[in-house]
Amino acid sequence: MIPFLDLKRINEPYSEAIQQAVQRVATSGWYILGQEVESFERQFATYCQVKHCIGVANGLDALTLVLKAWDFPTGCEVIVASNAYIASILSISHAGLTPVFVEPGSRTYLLDPARIEAAITSRTKAILAVHLYGHCCDMEPINALAQRYGLRVLEDAAQAHGAIYKGKRAGALGHAAGWSFYPSKNLGALGDAGAITTDDDELASRLRALRNYGSAQKYLNQYAGYNSRLDAIQAAVLSVKLTQLDVTNDRRRAIALRYLTTITNPDIILPPSDQIEQDVWHLFVIRHPKRNALRDYLQKQGIGTDIHYPVPPHRQEAYAHLANQSFPISEQLHQEVVSLPLNPTITDEEVDYVIETINSMGNKWQDQQGRKTERVV
Ligand SMILES: *Cc1c(COP(=O)(O)O)cnc(C)c1O
Repeated sequence: MIPFLDLKRINEPYSEAIQQAVQRVATSGWYILGQEVESFERQFATYCQVKHCIGVANGLDALTLVLKAWDFPTGCEVIVASNAYIASILSISHAGLTPVFVEPGSRTYLLDPARIEAAITSRTKAILAVHLYGHCCDMEPINALAQRYGLRVLEDAAQAHGAIYKGKRAGALGHAAGWSFYPSKNLGALGDAGAITTDDDELASRLRALRNYGSAQKYLNQYAGYNSRLDAIQAAVLSVKLTQLDVTNDRRRAIALRYLTTITNPDIILPPSDQIEQDVWHLFVIRHPKRNALRDYLQKQGIGTDIHYPVPPHRQEAYAHLANQSFPISEQLHQEVVSLPLNPTITDEEVDYVIETINSMGNKWQDQQGRKTERVV
C-alpha cells in the first residue's frame, strides 16, 4: 500500500532534532514570540532573500493580515485565479474585499496574465498570485500590469517553499507573500503555522503589530489587531526542517522527473514540465477524463491519491452569491485533476510501481458505456 501522504514518515528523519528543539523551548520558560520565533524569521527571510519575515498563526491569517494591513476600502476588488485554493479566496473575503475570478491558463493551471487586464475595474486594488502545486505564476507580466494600474501584488506561496522564478525565490516576487507551514506543505510544522515575507519596512512593522493585538509596544495598541502569532515550538521545529528544504525539494524534483518521463498512458495529461528545476512539486497533478474511475482503480492497486481540488470556489456553498458565474476551464479542471503520491520519502520502487500501474491499466477502469467526456481545454 502506498499512501498518498504519510506525515509520520515525513517527520521521522528529523525525530531527534525535533525532540531537542521542542525540549529547548519547553525548558526556556519563554513560549510566545521571542528568540525562537525571531530566529526562524531571520532564517526564512534569508532563505527567501527578503528583508522581513513575520511569523503568524497559519497561512490563511498570513494572507488576510497583509490584505488588512493594506487597508483598502471595504468592497474593493482583488483579482485571483478561479481555481485557487479556498483559503486564498477566504483571505480576500475576511479582509472585507471582493474576489474577482479569472480563468487559469489551461496548461499552467495558474493565474493567466493575459486575462487579468479585462478584469481590472476602478475598484481593483490587488492581484493575488497563487503559486499552485509548487509552480510560480508568471510574475513578470503580472507585476508589469500591477505597476501600470497601481495595484498591490500578494503572492500566495503556501505551496511553493523554495520555488524559483527568474532567479528569485517565491516570497520575493511581489509586494508581500503569505506562507503556510501546515504539516503537509513542503516546509511543514507539527501543527498550524504561517508567515509573511516582504521587503516593505512599513508593511512589516504594521504586520508585526497586527499579529499581536495591534501592539508594537507592550500595552500600547496602535491598531485594533489580532492574536495571530507563530508558536515558539513550531518555530523551533521549522528551523530544524528548513535546513533540509532544498534537499527534500531536490528529491521531489527527481520524482516529478521520473513521472514526467515515464508515464506514457495516452489518456493522461501530465503537468507542465518546462520549469522542472525551478518548481518545487508540492503536488503532482495529472488529469484524466474519468478521474473518479482512475482513482478507484489506483486505490484497488494499493495506491492512494487525492484531489486538489474537487469543487471550484464559485461552486462552494460559502460563495453561493457567486454561483451565477461560469468558469469552464476551472470547472473542467476540478472534474479531471488527480494528485499522485509525491513526497521526499517515497522510494524509487514505489514511484515505479505507481508508473507501471498507470501505464498498464488499459481500459480496465472505463465505465461500461465507454463514454467520452467533452474537453474544453
Ligand atoms: C495551505 C494553503 C493555504 C492555507 O494555509 P493554512 O495554514 O492551512 O491556513 C492557503 N493557500 C494555499 C494555496 C494553500 O495551499
